[in-house]
Parts: sequence; structure tokens; C-alpha cells
Amino acid sequence: MQIESEWLQQQIDSLVVISEEPAPVVTRILFSDADLRAREHVRRLCHDLQLKVTEDAVGNIFARWPGSDPELPPIATGSHIDAIPNAGRYDGVVGVLGALAALRALRASNFSPRHSIELIVFTSEEPTRFGIGCLGSRLISGALEPEHALALTDVDGNSLRRWLEAIYGGEPTLRSVAKPKGCYAGFVELHIEQGPLLDRAGIEIGVVESIAAPATLRVQITGEGGHAGAVLMSDRHDALLAGAEIALSVEQAARESHSRDAVATTGVFRIQPGAVNSVPFRADLEIDIRDTNLSARDATLEKIQTEITTICHRRRVSAATVILNQDAPAVCDPALVKILEQSAASLGFSSLRMVSRAYHDALFMAQISPTAMIFIPCRDGISHRPDEFASTEAIRRGTQLLAEVLRKLAA
Ligand SMILES: [Zn+2]
Repeated sequence: MQIESEWLQQQIDSLVVISEEPAPVVTRILFSDADLRAREHVRRLCHDLQLKVTEDAVGNIFARWPGSDPELPPIATGSHIDAIPNAGRYDGVVGVLGALAALRALRASNFSPRHSIELIVFTSEEPTRFGIGCLGSRLISGALEPEHALALTDVDGNSLRRWLEAIYGGEPTLRSVAKPKGCYAGFVELHIEQGPLLDRAGIEIGVVESIAAPATLRVQITGEGGHAGAVLMSDRHDALLAGAEIALSVEQAARESHSRDAVATTGVFRIQPGAVNSVPFRADLEIDIRDTNLSARDATLEKIQTEITTICHRRRVSAATVILNQDAPAVCDPALVKILEQSAASLGFSSLRMVSRAYHDALFMAQISPTAMIFIPCRDGISHRPDEFASTEAIRRGTQLLAEVLRKLAA
């Protein structure tokens, strides 16, 4: 099987310009013009390959190569094409366009699958618009209630329900998105590592054994505004200062955790009214907490919640906190992991078993299907930045391995 790596690199590069900002910056936030155009672009590529393309009510795209035995559950692969603000060109995209290149190689080799093979392009893996990641795969797995999902709101107060009405028309219902356990015989996601281990060690393939458990906390702090000259210091209820103390306590909670993999980040911090001569009356924070160990992660989360209460009480401001998600880690399917490892060896690629510290759609697919992931190295482990880079050769290897595994699973 020959992967057309030049074609693949061209496809990756041509998606870069479908962005809300000029190249090399990639910004494709859910439902932005760039996101909608990128979906259309990928749908066209799927049509070109004569795949049967369908879309569910939340915009997950399914492109199917029908197998010779329609009774068998399909084998799935895929990832996402949405991107956080100021991102690079490889995160997610390699798993979508790489899957297309793998299918092209399988076609060219005259392979005829018994199981159908399905490429899934998941809606909103990134949490930018609604503060919750893996929206599409979460709904597919049933981990998110449809009514809860429809009520999610973005920073402008627009709900997912409203967005879906505007884009697809009609009364949105997400009941049909969830899929039953066992509907796929396997799911394999190809992705850049987004960490430095493979690049540093000069290892060609990462075989993911487990995926870390993320939790997201949204905090809305309400204090009291006023004139920056007139309100005396002793009378202040400054929402920003409470938020600042909370952000520091978030850092401390992760640093003091006994778990080596504990990380916590205050990634969103917005204040109102945002005027130099006005005391901030409102601060909105979003906090991301992760660990490979569920109980350690929950302990960090609990500690942060206690600190929020203490700080806000002392600073005489109020805080409303919402846990947007509190997910369990995923363990990859041992049989699939073995197949990946053996296939990598048979192709002559060095490989390493590893933990995914970033979460992926595979985290949720693991709830309904045997799941595994292929990591490829990215330079210095840099990701979520415009200078994110994976070499054409690294991408070719990952794609070749994906094609090989799909061939084995679908035969
Ligand atoms: Zn990703």
C-alpha cells in the first residue's frame, strides 16, 4: 500500500487558508464561516472518493465506504477540523485528511472491505464556543444529555439550540445523535502527540493505552463596580482581584497534588466593564483540570472549589460555579493496542506505548467501541500554536499504519 504523501501534505496545506485569520494562523471556531467552509471542503473530498456522506443533527459528518457484508458493524476512524484561536494546521486535521489518504491507498490496492469503513469528522472537539470539548463525540457516546447540550450557551449568550436553528433550520433535536454500544467494531484515531516525548526520543509512532481525564469549571464572580477614583479601597468588591487569587490557587492546587500528571489551567479570564477608570464588577473564568488518575483529578477539583468559596467570602464578592464536564479517563482496547503495536513493527516503525495527556474524541468513542489511538511526533511537542509542525514523513508513517490497521480490522 502506497500513501500519497504529497497529496496528503497538499490537502493539509490547503485547509490552512480556510481560517478566520491569515496563514500560518489557523482559527476555526465551531459554526464560524471558516468552520462551515472547512466542513464543506472535507465533504467534497469525501464525495470525490465516492464515500457515502451523511451528517447527524449536531453536524458530525460520516463518510462511509460500504463493506461487502452489511451485517457487520463498521470500523471507524476520524478526528476533528475545528481549531482554537491562533492554532496550527495539524491538530485534528491529520486524523481526518490522513484517514482519507489511508482510504485512497486501500482503494488503490484493490482492497475490498468486508466491514464498512467509516470516517467521522466530529463537531467541535475544541471547547472554544461552548466551554465544553468533544461536543460531537460526547453526544454520540450518550455522555451528554441532548437537552443539556441544546441549552449550552456561548459568550454572546447564544445557545446551541439557536445556532442549530440558524444553520440547519427547523426545531433542533439531538435525540438521534447517540449511538448504541457495539455499533462500531473498532475506532482508531490518528493524531499528533501534542507533547514532546516521541520527538525527543526519536520514536516514530506512539500507541496510546489510556487517555487522561479532563474536568472544566466555569466561575462567574460578581462584585461591585464603581468609579476608580471615587470608591475607596476599603469599600471595594473587586471581581478581578478575586479572580486573580483564584487563578493563583488553581496553579497551587495542581503543583501541590501528589499526582505527577496533575495539571490545572485558568485559560479564560474576562472582566467587565473593562475600562481603565472603573472597578471590575464581573469576572468570568474557565478552569481546566486534568490527571491520568481520576481520584487525584477529583481531589484537585475539590480543592479548587473550596478555595473559590474561601477567597470570594474574604473578598466579599459572590461566585457561581458550574462544572461543565468531569470526565472519566479512557482505557484503550488491549487487543487493538496490540494490533497497532504489531502492525507498526511489521512496517518497520519504532513505537512506544503512551498515555494521552490531551483529550480527544477517542475518549468518548471508547465508551461505545473498542478504541485506540496512533500518535505521531510533532516538533518539540508544540501544539495549539501556529508553529505546530509534523513532518510529511511522520504523517506518512502514521497514515500508513492507520491504513494497515483498517485493512486488518475491515477484512
Ligand atoms: Zn485534536
